Formats: sequence, structure tokens, C-alpha cells
Amino acid sequence: MSLSIKPGDRYGRLVVVMECAPRKTLSRRFVRYFSCRCDCGKIVNVRLESLRNSDTKSCGCLKKQMNKKMKLFWTQYRKEKQQ
Ligand SMILES: [Zn+2]
Repeated sequence: MSLSIKPGDRYGRLVVVMECAPRKTLSRRFVRYFSCRCDCGKIVNVRLESLRNSDTKSCGCLKKQMNKKMKLFWTQYRKEKQQ
């Protein structure tokens, strides 16, 4: 896969702003990191692999939103069961 990542690219809720300094992993390999802006306004640093594999699609707010939705669903579900 030779997909290149450039500023302006969108991955889920994240838009690539720029590449940041690579970080060294425990196995002494360099990992490329990209600074991305989430739709909610937060800036996060995401690994190149995570963007490519679509592991990371938001700063984490997407997950939070989902949890909220699930919570709502379960409260509703329990309410209906009690009736
Ligand atoms: Zn966000």
C-alpha cells in the first residue's frame, strides 16, 4: 500500500494538518506521526498506521458520543421493560 498522507486529507472526523516529528518505538523503529484537527476542534497526534488502517477516526469524541447514545438506549430500554 503506497497511500500517501498529505495536509488536508480527511480520515473520519480528522483532517490532517501537518506531519510532526517521528517518534522512536521500543523496537527502535521510527513511527511517523501526523497532527490532525478533529471536527470538534481538538488537535491530536495520530500515528500514520492508525490513519491508514482507519483505527483512529476522531480525537476520541466519536467514542464518547457513541457511549452516550448507548447509555440513552439502555435507559430507554429498561424504562420500557418496567412498564
Ligand atoms: Zn473530536
